[in-house]
Amino acid sequence: MVERLSRCNLCLGARFSVYARVRGTMLKRVFTLLRCDGCGLVFVSPRLTRAEVSALYSPSYFQGDGFDAAVDYVSLLDNYDAAQRESDYVLERIRVFSSRKDLRILDVGCATGSLLRVLERKKYASLLGIELSPYAAGLARKNCTSPVITGDFLKHDFGDRQFDVIVSTEVIEHVTDPMRFFRRVKRLLAPGGVFICSTGNVRSLAARLLGKRWHYIAPEGHLFYFSPTTLSRYYAAVGLESVEYSALDGKHRKKMLRIEDNMLLSILDRSMHNNDRRVEFVLKMLRFLPRRFIGRVLTIAMGKYRLPMAKNGIGIVGAGKVSRKK
Ligand SMILES: [Zn+2]
Repeated sequence: MVERLSRCNLCLGARFSVYARVRGTMLKRVFTLLRCDGCGLVFVSPRLTRAEVSALYSPSYFQGDGFDAAVDYVSLLDNYDAAQRESDYVLERIRVFSSRKDLRILDVGCATGSLLRVLERKKYASLLGIELSPYAAGLARKNCTSPVITGDFLKHDFGDRQFDVIVSTEVIEHVTDPMRFFRRVKRLLAPGGVFICSTGNVRSLAARLLGKRWHYIAPEGHLFYFSPTTLSRYYAAVGLESVEYSALDGKHRKKMLRIEDNMLLSILDRSMHNNDRRVEFVLKMLRFLPRRFIGRVLTIAMGKYRLPMAKNGIGIVGAGKVSRKK
């Protein structure tokens, strides 16, 4: 019934400490999060079986009624502005590398296609989405004109196709074998291509302050919890080069932070709309502060901007510049 990990997925070490014990949101039982003594990777073990996990991703999951209430991709379909603000996170990262509009872009776990739709409006010409859930993929096909594959990124036969940009937003924490996932990313990236992902940062201020109450912990489906260090280690293990936030030039860094402030405020507004009690509580505490300031505090606390991107080889896809400080 449960799947126990005896080796760390990243360093293959077998010595772990208990990071937290937490109650699931859907299945009211206690899960253990372990932290690898060798590399610091945090993961759920024992965890639900593959069959149990896939049962979690029902249509209601995509409507915000699943184990992770922050997921409400269906409402994004009717809210282009919110989708835009949440897609800017990816757009700015693409722009760091290239200003070309003919980049071959793959959105892994594209859900209902809100990112693809924004990319289409921004005139990106070569887009492809892949989504495991037939329900979400069906909505994505209605939502945008780009092709969307219903299938498993790890198993789908892409032939000899390669991509300049592979995006996965809030996906890698759900994957049962991250090393396989990153290997696939490496294989599908064209020389000079980039991998852009977002996930929780387990070494962020919020994670460290909140401990087991960190909002990102959702042990039924969030199986791995990455940090800038463990993510870089994964990239190195599969032959990708890390691009750290601190290595970007000042202009991009500033813009990224501003975009992230807006994205988090937008997510906050959506959570308010969905009556998330925890968010209401936080907003009540912060209500005397200007919104811009709240956005920046959240950005720093969440620490997502600190998660590195990855690049395949030394070449840069297009005209964008990445200057290295220090
Ligand atoms: Zn390890």
